[in-house]
Amino acid sequence: MKIVVGHLYPDYLNIYADRGNIAVLARRAAWRGHELDVRGLGIGDPVDQAAYDLLYVGGGQDREQALVAPDIAAKADGLKAAVEAGTPVLAVCGGYQLLGRFYRDRDGSELPGAGVLPLETMAGDRRMIGDVLLECEFGARPRTLAGFENHAGRTLLDPGAEPLGRVVAGHGNDGESGYEGCRLANAVGTYLHGPLLPRNPWLADWLLGTALGEELEPLPDELEREAHAVAAERARRRGGRS
Ligand code: GLN
Repeated sequence: MKIVVGHLYPDYLNIYADRGNIAVLARRAAWRGHELDVRGLGIGDPVDQAAYDLLYVGGGQDREQALVAPDIAAKADGLKAAVEAGTPVLAVCGGYQLLGRFYRDRDGSELPGAGVLPLETMAGDRRMIGDVLLECEFGARPRTLAGFENHAGRTLLDPGAEPLGRVVAGHGNDGESGYEGCRLANAVGTYLHGPLLPRNPWLADWLLGTALGEELEPLPDELEREAHAVAAERARRRGGRS
């Protein structure tokens, strides 16, 4: 099968190797005989909900976010329709913030978001940086996610909104709530860079499986499991929210 991926703002929102997530999706799809067809979605490009099997957006500094914010707000209808239709979405850090209602940056400027995820973000004075470990529930199985965070933003989820996971080590959404990320239908927002997917292959397979409408057979993943274990141990050594 061909899996069509809409990659939002590949030239603006791509820090801390976030583009590596696309490489992992492509490789894990190919190992199962599928092909990833990645199409850039830039400023002014409409989001036709039916055209994409998966949507992805990476992270970025305040400056890059300011350049794309008005455009992602203008894409709100297409993005909302995609999420409502169950399209799997992975949004990382700056992209995650801009899927919410707004991101108020360190200068106090309010960057409009797409308002797809039930959250808003305000930048704080101190950046939240370091290895992170989460516990999350996907399907019946408890899972862990290990990654790296580097953000000034403090994200507040609306009451009743579903976080991605519980923080075992690290700051997470705001360094206080004890939660990280947000889930809505098949959309996943997170602060976790790294890139995220090489050391968390189960999430890559969940995204691909959801796009294909099937549960993928797990792969051996020795190296990936080792990378996860190393990242998780580093996060644990860092301890709770320091
Ligand atoms: N600029 C945003 C912040 O500092 C997002 C940073 C990022 O994508 N790593 O919170």
